Order: sequence, then structure tokens, then C-alpha cells
Amino acid sequence: MNKLKPSLRQLFYYNPITDCYIRHNDNKLTSNYSTEFLYVFQTQYGEFNENDYKVVGYNIKNESDALFDGYVDNPNEGSICCCTHPIKNFYYIQNIKHNQTWLVGSECVKKVSYYLYQQTLKYKKQHERMAEGRICGYCENVLIDLRKKIQKKGYCDINCYRKSQYKINFGIHKGKILNEFVYTKKGFDYIQWVKSVLKKDRNAFGQYPLFLEIIEEIELELIV
Ligand SMILES: [Zn+2]
Ligand SMILES: [Zn+2]
Repeated sequence: MNKLKPSLRQLFYYNPITDCYIRHNDNKLTSNYSTEFLYVFQTQYGEFNENDYKVVGYNIKNESDALFDGYVDNPNEGSICCCTHPIKNFYYIQNIKHNQTWLVGSECVKKVSYYLYQQTLKYKKQHERMAEGRICGYCENVLIDLRKKIQKKGYCDINCYRKSQYKINFGIHKGKILNEFVYTKKGFDYIQWVKSVLKKDRNAFGQYPLFLEIIEEIELELIV
């Protein structure tokens, strides 16, 4: 779907995989990178207003676990910013009003909007956290506010923390941390046993509500 203004059509191609406009023609139409950057967005949308944009993606070229990796076949594609400046760190900024996304470099963004540049840094940090596995030790959601004590510990909130520490308080496995135990071979059998008991009597573990909650959440995961 090409909705580019005529003067931009020779400069960009649309990648349907990433739903993004990518510059492939590195002949600048203006005098420098910053003016070229603004030229592109002003041509497409009129006046450049930083508040109309948000960062929606980040990637490093050739990164194996790429969020967006539609470019590997042609090394020239996706190696330049919309202003023709060569880039290694890819950022995807979206015009919110028109729902169109563009490949840019953060250093270029910095020159035209410090606000947007801050957003690129924030996005990159988040991406790196994901890559580092900075996710909740219980539910595996990404930890987004590491200033919080509980997130420093590796959990979204106190509920996730409690569930991750919950000890089975009855039967032959009493004292074992349920969240660790269930991922062992014996733990898998245990889950099957709990399920079979629940089938016969839905209230069998009624006095252990947290136990049931955890089993339910884990069971969903096992089924998926
Ligand atoms: Zn640029
Ligand atoms: Zn969590």
C-alpha cells in the first residue's frame, strides 16, 4: 500500500512485512541530513510536529533475534535513515495521525527533536531488557520500572513475588516451592494428579486458594 507523496516515491519503498517506509535512494534533495530529514516529513505531512510521532520499534542490523528482519536479502535496503545517513541502530518512528512508520537513525532524530530522541533511548533500553531476559520470575511479563524495589528483585509486583515463593503446604511434597517444583519431571506428574483430584472433587483444594490460583495459571501455560 503506497500512500507516499509523488516526490517521495522514487526515494522510498514500502516493506509490507514491517509495515514501514524505507529509504533506498541516497541522493539527497536538500543540503544536509537534518534538512533532508525534515523535508521528508514535511513533504508527506506538512509542518513537522514532534508530538505527532512515537517510537514503535528498535533493531540492530543483523541481530539474529530481530524484531524486524525483512531486509537481509538486500544489504542496501534498510541501511540508511530517511535522510540518507547510514545507520546501524534502526528505529521505527510512526506518525500517529497517519499511522505510517518510517525507518530512521537515532542520531538524526536527535538533531530534529530532542523529545523524540529521548523516546528512542527509552525504547532501546526496554528492548535490551527484553533481550537480557529482564522479565518477571513468575509471569514472564517484561519488567518496565526497575526503580521499583520489587522489580529490582525480578517480579512485577508483590502478587507475582508471593506466587513465585509459594510453598506446597500439604501432602508428600509439602515444603517445596510450587513454582519451581512443577517444572520438574515429578512436578509434571504432580500437576496430572492435582487435575485428576479436581476432576472428582472441584473443592478438594478449596482451603488453599493461592495453590489453586497458581495451578490454574501454570496449567494454562502447560496447555498452550
Ligand atoms: Zn537521518
Ligand atoms: Zn509477574
